[in-house]
Amino acid sequence: MDDCIFCRIVNGESRSKPVYEDERVFAFEDINPQAPTHILVIPKKHIASLGDIQEEEKEILGELMLRAREIARSRGLDRKGYRLVLNTGPWSGQSVFHIHVHLLGGRPMGWPPG
Ligand code: AMP
Repeated sequence: MDDCIFCRIVNGESRSKPVYEDERVFAFEDINPQAPTHILVIPKKHIASLGDIQEEEKEILGELMLRAREIARSRGLDRKGYRLVLNTGPWSGQSVFHIHVHLLGGRPMGWPPG
């Protein structure tokens, strides 16, 4: 997807601060962090949102969660806890339509989120 900022980041056409990469998953620092740690974990394949995932693509969801957990552990966030967020659709606040899991940590979180 030429017009997708996260595809451009994956392809190295847009700058990012990478945190993790494997064959299918890429993770990088959020440009507008909402917590001391704010990392986006995305599939390299363009999928617009959770609503667009096909049944045969379901394994990617598990990979995003487990890679986020590994990153959290590697930074010691699991000691006090962290939050994973997957905004889906306009009312959730989703602004980039390439599915991404937010990994937020390093401060106490409120509930419910705004
Ligand atoms: P969402 O609102 O769930 O779609 O989240 C999109 C996130 O992407 C926001 O937290 C933005 O700050 C972040 N973001 C947008 N553009 C970039 C970029 N070029 N590099 C890193 N993070 C970005």
